[in-house]
Amino acid sequence: SPNIVSAAPILTKLQRDCATPLPVLRQVADAMAADMRAGLEADSGSDLKMILSYVDVLPTGNEKGLFYALDLGGTNFRVLRVQLGGKEERVIATEFEQVSIPQELMFGTSEELFDFIASGLAKFAQKEAGKFHLPQGRTRELGFTFSFPVKQTSIDSGILIKWTKGFAVSGTAGKDVVACLNEAMKRQGLDMRVSALVNDTVGTLAGARYWDDEVMVAVILGTGTNACYVERLDAIPKLHSPNSASGRTIVNTEWGAFSTGLPLTEFDREMDAESINPGEQIFEKTISGMYLGEIVRRVLLRMAKDARLFGDSVPEKLQMPFSLRTPDMCAMQQDTSKDFEVVGSILYDMAGIDSNLCTRKIVIDVCDTIAKRGGRLAGAGIVGILQKLENDSKGVIFGKRTVVAMDGGLYEHYPQYRSYLQDSVTELLGPEISKNIVIEHSKDGSGIGAALLAATNSMYE
Ligand code: ADP
Repeated sequence: SPNIVSAAPILTKLQRDCATPLPVLRQVADAMAADMRAGLEADSGSDLKMILSYVDVLPTGNEKGLFYALDLGGTNFRVLRVQLGGKEERVIATEFEQVSIPQELMFGTSEELFDFIASGLAKFAQKEAGKFHLPQGRTRELGFTFSFPVKQTSIDSGILIKWTKGFAVSGTAGKDVVACLNEAMKRQGLDMRVSALVNDTVGTLAGARYWDDEVMVAVILGTGTNACYVERLDAIPKLHSPNSASGRTIVNTEWGAFSTGLPLTEFDREMDAESINPGEQIFEKTISGMYLGEIVRRVLLRMAKDARLFGDSVPEKLQMPFSLRTPDMCAMQQDTSKDFEVVGSILYDMAGIDSNLCTRKIVIDVCDTIAKRGGRLAGAGIVGILQKLENDSKGVIFGKRTVVAMDGGLYEHYPQYRSYLQDSVTELLGPEISKNIVIEHSKDGSGIGAALLAATNSMYE
């Protein structure tokens, strides 16, 4: 049929523009390593902010006692408690609760929001029983995962730069979010204090490191993306008074802002130009869950307009930004039926599209092209981090087992993406070295990770 004939060149061009042969991957990995170095030299020296986490002591497995964690990063907050029993007993018990934040509080005052959170925490703490035990006279300690931009000034303080993700709370910007929470807990009569303020990527690294001391890097691939890793203090020139007993610290790369040498298409450029943050977070827009489906939608829309892929008229809903979500794209790629019936019903449900076998195959090829580029570039980014560490001291990374802890819905639920990521790492490192590099899923490690960091930064130790 004529529509396939004319959609084919659009697909071919897309595949060419998204191609990530080894030389491209290598350039991206090298650029990631170079941009990391530039960001470690000076603030604003690079696309990569290379933020110091002030996490200098990592969990070892010896931590003991009762610790809490609070995760605030979206429309829900999660609270968790864990009873740690040291090397032998490890995690004796955990309990968690999730509370949704009423819409009006996202537009209210800072006090209202933090009071709501503290009262949720207080109710949760009241139910502490059974295997959970706080020694007499001790204050409860909390690890606070706060996934908004903060300028951290110590392990237990950080100034909010701005609210994002739909929050418009007044009176917090410029304030220490730890002080805000500590004061709210006091107002609620809750005997608890924040011992560690952590980014979610840093929490993931800490959570994975508790079980395996060869974890050196953590990567989140969810709605957005970020990565952090364990760095030597003497490899951070912008740090003028390095003092930590361990000589090491976790650096939060904020790698979503990376942009050097990426193979981008007209569809990426248009999506970026129409986004709320044009010119920013280019790596994130190429590899993370929020955007993959949207890129596919833009390609399909072009095929519908220029090649009549779905017949004479352009499906109206296909014109709506973000109407094709990454989980839909992923589900279409899992379709193993002979006629691609799942693809057919997803296209129909999302935009009332009637498709035939040929158009469904084209749609799958578009999804695969975008997932492949994303997974392979994410892999190149990971190799960039490892390469930077390896170049600083030969053998420490490639000469022994090294673990990269992965988390996030995209990595967890998209098998093709995950295997493209692994392929890229293997191609870049070669068969021998890649045997030493273990990329492993660390599910929901960040909650426990924050509690563990409250333990390693406890005021009682
Ligand atoms: P967040 O990053 O929002 O904190 P998650 O780590 O759970 O939360 O990631 C959620 C994201 O993961 C979604 O926005 C989506 O892009 C992606 N995702 C979720 N489910 C799937 C799926 N089945 N297939 C592909 N991607 C998925």
